[in-house]
Amino acid sequence: MSGGSVPPNGEETRPVPAPGTLMVDTRRDRTGEFRGLAGPYWSLRPVSGGAEWEADPEHVRALTPGERLRAENARQNARSRGDAHAAVFTAALAPVPTHDGRTALGRRHGFVDWTIAPNRTGEPPTLHTFRCTAETGGGKRCGAESPTSDLFETARGWTFTHVRDHPEHTCYVEVTQRPWTLRAERAS
Ligand SMILES: [Zn+2]
Repeated sequence: MSGGSVPPNGEETRPVPAPGTLMVDTRRDRTGEFRGLAGPYWSLRPVSGGAEWEADPEHVRALTPGERLRAENARQNARSRGDAHAAVFTAALAPVPTHDGRTALGRRHGFVDWTIAPNRTGEPPTLHTFRCTAETGGGKRCGAESPTSDLFETARGWTFTHVRDHPEHTCYVEVTQRPWTLRAERAS
């Protein structure tokens, strides 16, 4: 930590954008939304979610109208996929007990960035269930459910079978189980 964090140039300070402002990091040719200051750098996050990165404010520019439209669309799509709900949480690592039962507070004690994001490896798969919410009297609901399936069409198709037996059961909810993964990275 000696020396090091002097701003790249002291002549000009750029106004700090509002959080969420879309910007292009011209060094990396990446679009991200402004999240906040990280020392002399600006912390940007990919529009489609994911890990933040630090950009030099000298090499960050505003978007052209065309770029803005594409980025807004990407952000909207990411929100509907759940990616935009990915989050980073920095927390103190719990002290790690050593083999002799004492508690290590030296190098093993630090901060960790927890990142939670949708798990898109396909394993486990996203699962879909349809549940009948038709009222059956006395404040009760039917509650019958489709098979839970990784094929959306299978779950949805069950509603046609169910309504054949119960023509008045026309209200359903789709229940989606989307896997998420937490990942730890040592904070710098
Ligand atoms: Zn029903």
